[in-house]
Amino acid sequence: FRVQVTPLRDTGVDGGGMVALLRDFTGRKKLEEMRSEFVANVSHELRTPLTSIKGFTETLLDGALEDPQTTKHFLEIIYVESERLTRLIDELLNLSKIEDHKVAPDWQPVSMHELMERTVAIFKPRAAEKDLDIEVVLPEKLPAVHGDPDMLGQVLINLIDNAVSYTQNGGKIKVSAQSNGNKVKVEVQDNGIGIPEDSIPRVFERFYRVDKARSREQGGTGLGLSIVKHIIDVHHGSVQVKSKVGEGSTFTFELPVEGQNTSNA
Ligand code: ADP
Repeated sequence: FRVQVTPLRDTGVDGGGMVALLRDFTGRKKLEEMRSEFVANVSHELRTPLTSIKGFTETLLDGALEDPQTTKHFLEIIYVESERLTRLIDELLNLSKIEDHKVAPDWQPVSMHELMERTVAIFKPRAAEKDLDIEVVLPEKLPAVHGDPDMLGQVLINLIDNAVSYTQNGGKIKVSAQSNGNKVKVEVQDNGIGIPEDSIPRVFERFYRVDKARSREQGGTGLGLSIVKHIIDVHHGSVQVKSKVGEGSTFTFELPVEGQNTSNA
């Protein structure tokens, strides 16, 4: 977020400087508000797993340790919560690096064909556990896109991870790509729980979750889709979602084909 400072002189209009100053002040105030809201959110998100870790550790120290079964159960919770904390911190760092443009993308021609096959393979075991069918549909020929393969891999991971998490056992996921003019369009479709209409515009916000308990259960951090949005923005692409509660969701992103005005290579 950058505050734009309009020149105070030479505006040729009486009071022009005043207007610029006010605008600058409003921008700064909004920026500060957003920052403090973000810090509050992060603190809350970090505190939740920590509270749980602390609580279970205290209970163990207070005597629950005597019972081996309770001990095992509590230690498992502590482990899962520590994992979530680690993921949260990793994702936060990742997001802030992308946002601050600290990581220059490693631009190269990326074959979505290869990337999709590779990413889907990662999810095969988890899908099998839930008896989910993951289908990959690709045309024989697909132009390479202009991008960073690791970042684009992360986009696919986050979208497929959500499709797996928010689809009931026995469901179906389809990952497909097609060429669309000078863009490549990729779709991750599921027939899972879907997203309520009023939540759709918010899912790309940091920490936004339709159902916090459900996201937590899945090990979610509420950052996956905001990372997706940022990576797609860095790639000058677009991302959108269509969804219906009880029917499923389709996330679609489009990326420019390699060689099409790709001046940031
Ligand atoms: P999380 O870590 O909670 O999954 P995300 O940023 O990836 O965070 O997603 C934000 C929220 O959007 C999720 O908590 C969930 O409510 C909703 N969501 C994302 N993908 C799907 C999907 N495929 N089906 C249903 N809901 C989804």
